[in-house]
Amino acid sequence: MLKIKTLNIKIVILMLGFILLILFIFLNLDSNNTKQVPVVSVVKISKIEDKQDVLPIEVSEKEIPELKKWVGEDPYPFLDWDNAKPELHQAVKLFEDKWGKKLNILQVYRPALYGEHIRSVWEIWRYVNDKSFTEGHNCKYKTHIDISKISELNSTQKSRLIREASIHGFIKGHTPPSCDSDHSLGIAVDIVPPVDSVEYRDWIRVANESGLCHYISGDMPHFALQKYLPKDTDCFVR
Ligand SMILES: [Zn+2]
Ligand SMILES: [Zn+2]
Repeated sequence: MLKIKTLNIKIVILMLGFILLILFIFLNLDSNNTKQVPVVSVVKISKIEDKQDVLPIEVSEKEIPELKKWVGEDPYPFLDWDNAKPELHQAVKLFEDKWGKKLNILQVYRPALYGEHIRSVWEIWRYVNDKSFTEGHNCKYKTHIDISKISELNSTQKSRLIREASIHGFIKGHTPPSCDSDHSLGIAVDIVPPVDSVEYRDWIRVANESGLCHYISGDMPHFALQKYLPKDTDCFVR
């Protein structure tokens, strides 16, 4: 009787053990499955995130920070008389006749956006070469480049900047482009000035007699039509 009872207890313990074993296997399998799903999805998400991380860096690595984009012809065509005031062409022709020699004209009309582009190139070029970059005509109340964004240029950005500076004549030239130029009003012209200082004074005088005003200090090639400037403008600024 006692033997039968202990046998029954052993069978019950064995069965309980068997049931526990099956439960354990099931639970383990299930937990493995739930573990596998997130592992796969985490890998997928991290791959997408990798791609998203890489793209903007690739683009920004080529762009020069703070450079104002110009999508047109670069440099802008030098002698755009069509968008300038007709009086400007007449005044320059008169100047050339009175001067008696061919004038070397650098630029006439240029769009305001192109003006912003060359100003930003000039400021960045000056900044990376440890030179002042905020001076210039009409620059007092203008915002300038944010230097915190261009502290470190990579080699691609550096070679782009050298290309831009050379296109716009800033490698050796020191004249700051105006922050708000009258070239965009079609009333201004840039002409290569004589090297000799006496001849240079004469040259400005003859231009004055032709209706052209030389009024921006430090911008030797620049003239604007006198009649569009304020009456008290000094047109003999050397
Ligand atoms: Zn350019
Ligand atoms: Zn000019």
